[in-house]
Amino acid sequence: MQEYILALDQGTTSSRALLFNRELQCCAAVQQEFPQMYPRPGWVEHDPETLWESQRTVMIEVLRRADCKADRVAALALANQRETVVVWNRRTGKPIHNAIVWQCRRTADRCEALRQQGLETRIREKTGLLLDAYLSATKIQWILDHVAGARESARRGDLLCGTIDTWLVWNLSGGTRHVTDFTNASRTMLFNIHSLQWDEELLALFDIPAGMLPEVVPSSGLSAACQLSEFGSHRPPVAGLAGDQQAALFGQGCLEPGQVKNTYGTGCFLLMNTGTVPVLSRHGLLTTLTAQSRPGAPNYALEGSVFIAGAVMQWLRDELQILAQTPDSESIAASIPDTGGVYFVPAFAGLGAPHWDMYARGALLGLTRGTGRAQVIRAALESIAYQCGDVADAMQADRGRPLTVLRADGGAASNDFLMQFQADVLNCRIERPACMETTALGAAALAALALGWQTPQNLAARPAARIFTPAMSPAVRSRLLAGWHKAISRAAQWEEPASGT
Ligand code: ADP
Repeated sequence: MQEYILALDQGTTSSRALLFNRELQCCAAVQQEFPQMYPRPGWVEHDPETLWESQRTVMIEVLRRADCKADRVAALALANQRETVVVWNRRTGKPIHNAIVWQCRRTADRCEALRQQGLETRIREKTGLLLDAYLSATKIQWILDHVAGARESARRGDLLCGTIDTWLVWNLSGGTRHVTDFTNASRTMLFNIHSLQWDEELLALFDIPAGMLPEVVPSSGLSAACQLSEFGSHRPPVAGLAGDQQAALFGQGCLEPGQVKNTYGTGCFLLMNTGTVPVLSRHGLLTTLTAQSRPGAPNYALEGSVFIAGAVMQWLRDELQILAQTPDSESIAASIPDTGGVYFVPAFAGLGAPHWDMYARGALLGLTRGTGRAQVIRAALESIAYQCGDVADAMQADRGRPLTVLRADGGAASNDFLMQFQADVLNCRIERPACMETTALGAAALAALALGWQTPQNLAARPAARIFTPAMSPAVRSRLLAGWHKAISRAAQWEEPASGT
């Protein structure tokens, strides 16, 4: 009896494997961290083979733990860290360089040069992305330019490239399938999100031969047969494939235009489904494809991120040492009626959407002699909600309609105070699901759809475990938001831009 979907969640710091049953309940999970490499300041790499080995290890381990024989696995599903690239030899399967991770800034100069050439608007119109080093295109180009002989090999057709989904499916399929899905393709800055094709003009701009690129397949569908020696003659299909944030959007059942999910982790990632309409943001958000996209039928989302969210709680715990454990913040914040006018702007790394101020720095404002530990902790938690509120406001403005519901997940979404405060400042219902593993769940749901185990209606109707409804008066809300925006304006442009000398 084939009763499980083996979902792989390949993240930036760890590989995870989770086993889901037909009802999409998680039955077992195993996680393994892998090393991060920082060869120079601002550079980030992963060893692709270590990454594959860690993913393979957790897959085998989760089956062992659940005492599940491989032939009970009906399909595999994969959600992955996005934008990170690998280039490898198609004959040997060996990478020619470490994976260049999305966080790596080594191609920032190249992006600046393209901006100087006035190419940003053109790239944005085609890809929905901002011209930035974290997207894949300049990373692939960098490898071809810097590995001896790589360009020649690429021209001869000896090299393949791909994001992490592509690299893992290549290995899972014993080197027989070179594919990616629409969501991952839409993060490369090489993919036209309107025509759903690799864009020849962009390939020429980045000098990347088209033959290196994977075939693009729907996120839900049988894209490869898994040929692992541990599985013997059983070859379950890879049936779900998506970038982690789009997988989470799907896992949250945000299948209708206007529905939004927010993942509260180290940072926050908000995605709003905009349906068949590609909304080009006027507020610094990205336009990206969702896992619902099919050949000839693109489906879009607006995406915005907050750099420092849960990380601010870690900072209070590890640097200021005023918090023993991050979950303690909930009862401490709830023990006082308000912050007494204190605002915390956690702009440790500048501010992202919609402010886009890389010179902003962190600030605590409104301190009085009566300010204590509880006020600072509460102000830090509130800052997570305010920042997400600013991104959500940008989404509402871009789409021209108010938000009605936001679905929350991620580690910090377990904080009830934060969820209630978010509902209050956004004036919008917050729904929190029972299964917070929405990334892996989303990949599993895509596979379940392909297997015919679930329908889109079932997936959209998954009930929330907890709902937070706004309870703040409009007057208090506007007073608090006015204070927050005043605080943001004080932290803005704090650092002096480098003089360039
Ligand atoms: P990531 O996937 O980005 O590593 P997680 O989803 O695991 O993040 O969430 C961890 C983050 O959430 C950490 O930054 C931590 O400080 C924060 N966090 C976890 N639990 C809580 C909580 N109960 N209250 C506030 N913050 C929390």
